[in-house]
Amino acid sequence: MTTGQGVGIVVVSHSRPLARAALALASEMLHGRQVRIELAAGLDEATFGTDAVRVKEAIQSVDGPEGVVVLMDLGSAVLSAELALDLLGDPAARERVTLSAAPIVEGLVVAAVAASGGATRAEVAAEARNALLGKAAHLSVPDEGAPTPALARPAPTDSDVVGRFTVANSHGLHARPAARLVSEVGGLDATVILTNLTTGTGPVPAASLSRVATLGAQQGHEVEIRAGGPQAQEAVEHLLALAARNFDEVAPGVDTPATASSTTGPLPASPGIAIGPLRRLAAPPIEVDETEVGDPAAEWRRVVEAVAEVRRDIEHLRALTERQAGETEAAIFDAHLTLLADATLLADVKQRINEGMGASAAWTVCLQAIEREWSDLSDSYLRERAADVRAVGDQVRRVLAGAAAQQPAAEGILVARDLTPAQAAALDMTAVRGIVLAAGSASSHAAILARSRGIPLVVSAGRDVLGVPEGTLLVVDGGTGEVHVDPDPGVVADHRRRAALAAERRARDLDLASEPAVTRDGTTICVAANLGSVADARSAFAAGADEAGLVRTEFLFLGRGTPPDVAEQEEEYAAIAAALGGRRATLRTLDVGGDKPLPYLPMPAEANPFLGVRGLRLALERPTLLRDQLDAVCRTARRAPTSVMFPMVSTVAELRAAREALVAAAGPDGVPDGLRVGMMVEVPAAALKIESFLPHLDFVSIGTNDLTQYALAAERGNPGVAAIFDALDPAVLHLVDHVCQAARGRVEVAVCGEVASDDAAVPLLVGLGVRELSVGPHAVPAVKARVRELDVEQCEVVAKQALRLESAQDVRELVAGWEGLAPR
Ligand code: PEP
Ligand code: MG
Repeated sequence: MTTGQGVGIVVVSHSRPLARAALALASEMLHGRQVRIELAAGLDEATFGTDAVRVKEAIQSVDGPEGVVVLMDLGSAVLSAELALDLLGDPAARERVTLSAAPIVEGLVVAAVAASGGATRAEVAAEARNALLGKAAHLSVPDEGAPTPALARPAPTDSDVVGRFTVANSHGLHARPAARLVSEVGGLDATVILTNLTTGTGPVPAASLSRVATLGAQQGHEVEIRAGGPQAQEAVEHLLALAARNFDEVAPGVDTPATASSTTGPLPASPGIAIGPLRRLAAPPIEVDETEVGDPAAEWRRVVEAVAEVRRDIEHLRALTERQAGETEAAIFDAHLTLLADATLLADVKQRINEGMGASAAWTVCLQAIEREWSDLSDSYLRERAADVRAVGDQVRRVLAGAAAQQPAAEGILVARDLTPAQAAALDMTAVRGIVLAAGSASSHAAILARSRGIPLVVSAGRDVLGVPEGTLLVVDGGTGEVHVDPDPGVVADHRRRAALAAERRARDLDLASEPAVTRDGTTICVAANLGSVADARSAFAAGADEAGLVRTEFLFLGRGTPPDVAEQEEEYAAIAAALGGRRATLRTLDVGGDKPLPYLPMPAEANPFLGVRGLRLALERPTLLRDQLDAVCRTARRAPTSVMFPMVSTVAELRAAREALVAAAGPDGVPDGLRVGMMVEVPAAALKIESFLPHLDFVSIGTNDLTQYALAAERGNPGVAAIFDALDPAVLHLVDHVCQAARGRVEVAVCGEVASDDAAVPLLVGLGVRELSVGPHAVPAVKARVRELDVEQCEVVAKQALRLESAQDVRELVAGWEGLAPR
């Protein structure tokens, strides 16, 4: 129901299934008549919550001359809808929106019917407001016409439902269980207040994390729950059940299911030996200039946008942590997320801004007040949770101040829980000798970045490493996954010796790096580089790369809140072309989605992001974004040797649509002659149907990172399935073989996945018919040296044998056993 004219309707609910069911019910009443209705509900399919940015987008998508009526469910849904109005930059658009106090189910039914009959916005809103009259009349309840009890009655009354529980958690009702409590009541139509009967503290609203934490409820304290409103009974029952489950906290010593990180780490992720003091990410001081405070609406919008950005970052990190280290670890972020959605806190900030404060000052004052309250609590564990408040508060302040990303305080080995692609990309690698991640995986984008810069990396090292003090000497071998903490001098000396040998070999490889890579029997293999920045392009040139086989354009503008325009993109591509000194650059169109979010491209959370709207799928859904990028690509191709390729293609129709978009973006001058057009083969379906794609292509590049995860159903970022995720599995080799056979004599086949720099893989890929290997810039000299050792005929024999084997392990043993092919 997204077409048709008239008033648009937006449903804001904590629950996506609930909103969808309400919509289905309303549709029944419409008998096929069209009304524009959009849902902004739940954080994802299963997580309760509302998101102001999503509400804003929903309003914009149904907006029109007749305006929009917004129906909301409880508490923060109302706040999110108000924030969404603030986010609508255009005052005229705000004027066209009515926030309705109607209940969403009854309200939606009557509002949809009224809108489908051509009612005005005022009429639709009035219908919705009166939605309960019929039921009230039937039940002979007088129409109070007053606010709903849930909103109008903050104090205890005799009719409240009351319950009591004793806190059993060893650290009391600290931030995480408190966050769990708040989220439990957040989805219910009830006003709930809590009192600490043991200390006499309270009552405080249960919907506010900042207030609940001030109860100081420690282990053994008795807490009273009082609830009013339609779902008061459920609220009390839910909270009592939750308390009986210790707020879903796992008690220390209780067996938990083994998480991925506890069973598989540490894992090697980027080869090389690093020796140095342990360093953590530290935040540079935040410098806020608030000499000029904007008008309150603008300042408030800044807060809302900053909070939304930080929330997206934390949600991303939470999802990564959950996949890689399990739910218990990931739950650490829940308290942060709940704080960012705290209606009381946000209302305080807004009030201060309305009184004339700037965004950053208002935010800081309110956060400091909460931090102070928490620091003053008598329980030491709770006091320490004040650090959570400070961390989240600082994150928002950084965004408000446009502050630089976190960096290690001095040169050494960086130790962190994990790195998002944005954090990794922003690292000043000159200060980073090596990296150890407590979680993380070898095929994540952080690992790809580390390899591209030649930084030794060990992932899934386990959380104990996070407790090692700053400055402690570490020895890290990114090729084996060893991490030595405060090692004996003998261990240090041994690793220094090995590092020196590796450096000698690298110097030899570098000497020959600018020469072509020709096999012993005379076949030239193009050894290209994968890039994510202009700095990478410089490294690629210095490392002797023959061209850039993959420019991950999604990494070029990672730190931005708004999309780059055509001129900015063209400038960045031109800088890459210049750094490559005339060598061809293959620009891949935006590959967003999966584990790569883009701050300026907010996307709804998906249950299976790697199987969702990513790569070309997303680009085709955002035609303006794709057109601008292809326009910039064409402009670049008129000045420098350029190729373009599309990621995550699964159907020929997608490729055709992309090619049409290219023609449209090229404009009257036409698609530049020298622009070669290719696609990534990352989806098994694309590999198997390659014949149908070839007529539309000048080249293909096999993305073995994704091809492996899709072929083996083993997520690339999940260390729990790292043992399955191996691109040398015969299944993946068969897909590569199929593509090479079909393409032989027609188009060139490249491989740009990480396996292209794997010593064992190079002879196999060459044997299957791959003639371009695109690898991290740092790996170029070693891959060229590897190619020069090979004989293509011998590689073909080995590759054929590999196709008949059972496992990646067998394939690796086969290569190692061949005279002259064993990895160096
Ligand atoms: C791949 O999937 O192999 C690839 C090169 O693309 P990315 O790693 O950027 O997904
Ligand atoms: Mg890929």
